Amino acid sequence: VRQAYAHSLVENPLQGEILRRVLHGGASTSRARLTQSLGVSKSKVAFEVRRLVAAGLLAEDGFADSEGGRRSSLLHVPHSAGFVGVFDLGATSTDVAVTTLSSDIVAHRSEPSDIAAGPRAILERAVELLDELLLEIGAHREQLVAVGVGVPGPVEQPTGRLVAPPIMPGWDDFGVRAVLEEEFHAPVAVDNDVNIMALGEHARGVGQGVENLLFVKIGTGIGGGIVIGGEIYRGAQGCAGDIGHLVADVHGPICACGNIGCLEALAAAPAIVRAAEHLAREGSSQFLAERLIAAGGLEARDVGDAASRGDYEALTIIRDAGRLIGQTLASVVSVLNPSLIVIGGGVSQIGNALLAEIRTSVYKRSLPLATRNLPIVLSQLEPRAGVIGASVIGVKSVLGVPTS
Ligand SMILES: [Zn+2]
Repeated sequence: VRQAYAHSLVENPLQGEILRRVLHGGASTSRARLTQSLGVSKSKVAFEVRRLVAAGLLAEDGFADSEGGRRSSLLHVPHSAGFVGVFDLGATSTDVAVTTLSSDIVAHRSEPSDIAAGPRAILERAVELLDELLLEIGAHREQLVAVGVGVPGPVEQPTGRLVAPPIMPGWDDFGVRAVLEEEFHAPVAVDNDVNIMALGEHARGVGQGVENLLFVKIGTGIGGGIVIGGEIYRGAQGCAGDIGHLVADVHGPICACGNIGCLEALAAAPAIVRAAEHLAREGSSQFLAERLIAAGGLEARDVGDAASRGDYEALTIIRDAGRLIGQTLASVVSVLNPSLIVIGGGVSQIGNALLAEIRTSVYKRSLPLATRNLPIVLSQLEPRAGVIGASVIGVKSVLGVPTS
């Protein structure tokens, strides 16, 4: 297990807290505001800020509006403080990016891939892409202060190893973190794709300032990321939030996990596509039938296109999926009582009907107190939630606070 501060950018928790607040506070963080919000003495803040400026991690530019006393200089984290290398490995695509420490994307590339090709092939290509991006922006590997990685499978936290990932053959027990740390000589943080998206929304998206939220990813699978008190809640073995395998219909189909009637088997992209292809073949949707013939297969977004053209049968598929997801989320709401639910993932983009149906079902089935003030909204960062989230966990890992 890594020492909490061994690879950190900062020397003590106060420096970490100062950097976090400057990174989150945008362009308006001044010394005065830091002193106010941290509740420590002015001189302590001034001392640590000076050290961070000397280390190149903070820079001062301009002054905040005077609030009576002396003017207080504005702080920011300069680009020269370093970059974060980002790998967001999906089931069918690889996203690679370079971001600032504020998780602003400087360069980004996405290409189709097959996670089943195995860790060596996937990571070799991803590293190649990152080197290309660094070259493009005139930077080099030594400027990477951290690397953040998202993978579509369960990750053992202290070690950064994959544990029996169902859709990642050949990756079981593979030490993603160790391999990439050796490659880049920088700290590497690895987590599953849904957790990073949840943290991304919390730090940079629609969940900013919301301490308890549930992120739901609807794509090839369905997963949940739980943020409690600003941190990811992982549970005893790290698989908390796996809502795709809650039972949605005891008479439903067999799921990839071997159980019957899981939400994922009924409402994720493959189920939506299967229902759409059935419609197309039996002739109940002319639009989908034409798409099927033209493309040889359908995707979830075709169902959204059909629905937006007034295809009632396609709309029904989307509503059915939304209702099942909403009914399942209602149970989760009863357990967690979050103050925000964020819906993301590829399928979340197929049209307003999905979100509307999810909302209706959650509000209908949850206790009124739990939903009295519970917004259910689409991800603000999509389709970059994973990239930004992976950057956020990379940065977290070098600001000195163990991710518990
Ligand atoms: Zn299942």
